[in-house]
Amino acid sequence: MANTIITVKDLVKNYGSFEAVKGISFEVNEGEIFGLLGPNGAGKSTTLEIIETLRPKTSGKIMVDGLDLDKSPQEIKKIIGVQLQSSGYYPGLNLLQLIELFSGLYNQDVDPMELLEKVNLKDKAKAKVKELSGGQKQRFSVATTLINKPRIIFLDEPTTGLDPQARRSLWELVRDIRNSGTTVIITTHYMDEAEYLCDRVAIIDSGKIIALDTPDQLIDKLIASGFERPREMKLANLEDVFINLTGHSLRED
Ligand code: ADP
Ligand code: MG
Repeated sequence: MANTIITVKDLVKNYGSFEAVKGISFEVNEGEIFGLLGPNGAGKSTTLEIIETLRPKTSGKIMVDGLDLDKSPQEIKKIIGVQLQSSGYYPGLNLLQLIELFSGLYNQDVDPMELLEKVNLKDKAKAKVKELSGGQKQRFSVATTLINKPRIIFLDEPTTGLDPQARRSLWELVRDIRNSGTTVIITTHYMDEAEYLCDRVAIIDSGKIIALDTPDQLIDKLIASGFERPREMKLANLEDVFINLTGHSLRED
């Protein structure tokens, strides 16, 4: 049996009189990639930021690795990795210097080159963030979540706006991180991403969880209910054609 590392119980978030999150409950298992899947405005970022201790909740109970969010937010901060907003990167510093700076702030002994190698950005060590491509920026942003050697990392739509190669490269990175033992919570509105990447997904719509299971189980349940695709599926799609023509999937972007 998997250990539960995050428990969210009856979480509610109101912005004034608007109910953005309407009493959701879910558990995240240690070592899994857990997806919050939903359309824009569903309440994914709100939920994530509340668990990250960055946003106050209206009501509900949250436990992270045995710690109560209401009582021990500082302890929770120490064991989670949060993506920093790119506006928080000092523009004058290169990637190496930024990692050194953040390691100092976190009081962590990190080998910056080793971390950059992990996210495939060793060649860019002396580059500034603004000189990176979209995919490289996102990989750097993922690297910054790892600086405090967290048990759990949170990724909020990390592939939005990336081209197919950069997306796939990020997916491989997220899998590597999970495979090295870190629990990952990720939000996305891309179904293919959730299907490929997530061990389990909660589908969230208008502030409510409307389904929660493994992608396989969700699909099997739908098929069992009599659903059939209107059109026969081909063995490849246009994205496969594109990737095939423009270079292998993990090309440096
Ligand atoms: P998602 O990340 O799924 O796109 P969000 O959690 O960002 O959704 O937003 C959920 C809902 O809450 C949206 O309708 C959004 O407009 C609203 N919302 C988000 N942040 C605020 C805020 N600070 N003040 C008021 N409404 C907000
Ligand atoms: Mg969002």
